[in-house]
Formats: sequence, C-alpha cells, structure tokens
Amino acid sequence: MENAARTNNLKRVVRVVLEIGQFSGVEPELLRFAFAAVKNGTVLEQAEIEIKIPPLLLYCCECRNEYLGELADLCCPVCLKEQFKIVRGREMLVKTIEGELK
Ligand SMILES: [Zn+2]
Repeated sequence: MENAARTNNLKRVVRVVLEIGQFSGVEPELLRFAFAAVKNGTVLEQAEIEIKIPPLLLYCCECRNEYLGELADLCCPVCLKEQFKIVRGREMLVKTIEGELK
C-alpha cells in the first residue's frame, strides 16, 4: 500500500478499501489490528481502513448449480450436497486508495 501511495504521488493516504473474501484465510479484525500497528510514521498514518466482505459464490460439483454460500451453511440449495468449488471468496484485494496529492 505504501508503494501504491508513492507511485501515485500521494502525500498521505486518507482511506483504504480492502476486499477480503471469506475463504481468503484472512481475519478482517486481525488485519485491522495489524494495520493499526504498522501505520504509524508512514503515509498511512491517518488512513481509515474499510474492509468489504464480498459474497461467497460457490459452484456445485454435483449438480453444477452456482449459489451463494455462507460459512455456516455451505451446502448446495438444490441437491443439498457439500461438493463445491469456490468461484468467489478467496479475494484479498486493495480496492481503492484515497489520498492527498503532493
Ligand atoms: Zn448441487
């Protein structure tokens, strides 16, 4: 993120929007905590962090249905099997960085 700020000639970053999928293996609260710990003394010092959780899109290997899952219930609503591939949900993206130009 610091590199992105430098490349875009930002004096300081005011807002960072992240997209963290439910299957990315990243815990949003831990990420928020880590971010708070490292930002001091960087261009990110005053940045707000916003974490978006995109929908979990699954593909049923059994009946080839695509459906939105939840971590609590990953079964296919059509055939009720739990044989799925993850279509969306592993993302770990920096969506936007807002800042002030130098
Ligand atoms: Zn199915």
